[in-house]
Amino acid sequence: MRIALIAHDKKKNDMINFAVAYAPILKEHTLFATGTTGYKIHEATNLMIKRFQSGPLGGDQQIGALIAENEMDLVLFFRDPLTAQPHEPDVSALMRLCDVYQIPLATNVASAELFIRSLDRGDLDWRKIIDEREPQK
Ligand code: PGA
Repeated sequence: MRIALIAHDKKKNDMINFAVAYAPILKEHTLFATGTTGYKIHEATNLMIKRFQSGPLGGDQQIGALIAENEMDLVLFFRDPLTAQPHEPDVSALMRLCDVYQIPLATNVASAELFIRSLDRGDLDWRKIIDEREPQK
């Protein structure tokens, strides 16, 4: 599965702790992240991660583009609900695209834990069926 990892600054520690705790599961998947989040996760876990631009510089939009191309299966986006973000329109657009394309989206660590355990059980395997139905690019 292709998993996007994004954390706003005040949620980066949550993300690092999450990635360390679930590294054995995460390493079985293809990981993507916005710039700083990806750097910090890699530093803490040594997981291989394809890093995009930092969120405020377009990283959220790059992940959104993959969702629109049906190339993302799960988004773990630890938002900071108490701090105004300069790229709020990008944040909303990313969440909107998850809803447009029925992509599971966890916006906090408690939901992310449920999702990652469920992913490990195979609950998201329906995404593979959708992929097989897609015309080959
Ligand atoms: P960052 O971007 O991982 O580069 O900090 C995340 C965001 O703020 O959307």
